[in-house]
Amino acid sequence: MNLPKKVQIVEVSPRDGLQMLPRFAPTKEKVRLIEALSEAGFKRIEVISFVSPKHVPQMADSDEVLNAIKPLKFEKMALALNEKGYKKAIEAKVDWICYVLAATEQMSKRNANTTIADSVQVAKQCIKEAHEAGIKVRASIAVCWVCPYEGKVPKERVLEITENLLEADEIAYNDTVGCAVPNDVYELCSTAKKSFPNVTFAGHFHDTNFTALANIYAAMTAGWDVFDSSIGGLGGCPFSPGASGNIATEKVFWMLDKMGIQTGINNEKLKEPITLAKKIEQNYGENLKE
Ligand code: MG
Repeated sequence: MNLPKKVQIVEVSPRDGLQMLPRFAPTKEKVRLIEALSEAGFKRIEVISFVSPKHVPQMADSDEVLNAIKPLKFEKMALALNEKGYKKAIEAKVDWICYVLAATEQMSKRNANTTIADSVQVAKQCIKEAHEAGIKVRASIAVCWVCPYEGKVPKERVLEITENLLEADEIAYNDTVGCAVPNDVYELCSTAKKSFPNVTFAGHFHDTNFTALANIYAAMTAGWDVFDSSIGGLGGCPFSPGASGNIATEKVFWMLDKMGIQTGINNEKLKEPITLAKKIEQNYGENLKE
């Protein structure tokens, strides 16, 4: 079986996990979670997003979070959806920009109020400007398998978008609604890998229908070795109905560890961020009844 010996787990809970919480989590609790994740051995963490605080109020303290974690030794990734967002991320001197676009017009419209063609152009501009500033870019394509508005997504469309983004340092395929199944994942991931052998691909799978681990396994057999997950399974996507359920980091870690695949994560030190994530979810995860 042709499996990778090493996998990088990109921890996304501080951004993707927390952004949906209905009540604002204090900056110092977010910072403590990030510190604990760094201590557990994660080498890249998606820590914040530069999006409108009107749409995602939970990320309104992005600058404060970033300032507080500056001395920590891991690559800090920030999400952006448009020109304003990526310019802020460049200004903030993050290590990685995760520039999100979508594989369907409906999702593109609802998530970022743009078209696929326009978002590809802005992504290319983002890659160019970020590279000039010494910042890496992940081009992150939402709804690569199933779209909540358009249904099954043709793989040719995802490959065509990929072809336009080859200057990116990494291209991520997202199962935003958690409806992808392993045979479809293998088909798209192996075709992408064969078509673009020099690209580093990353998989972002949701566990909404309990297929995320199977999908990660399918992508690994296609030669992929970077995967996102969120400690405690925090979060999902606020603009994608029914998309709760980032795959929990501890589940991904357990599987990879038992398979003998290195991740650089310390099992003992995973306990603290799990506890912190659960506490944050308990304290800020429920809507207050008024
Ligand atoms: Mg997610």
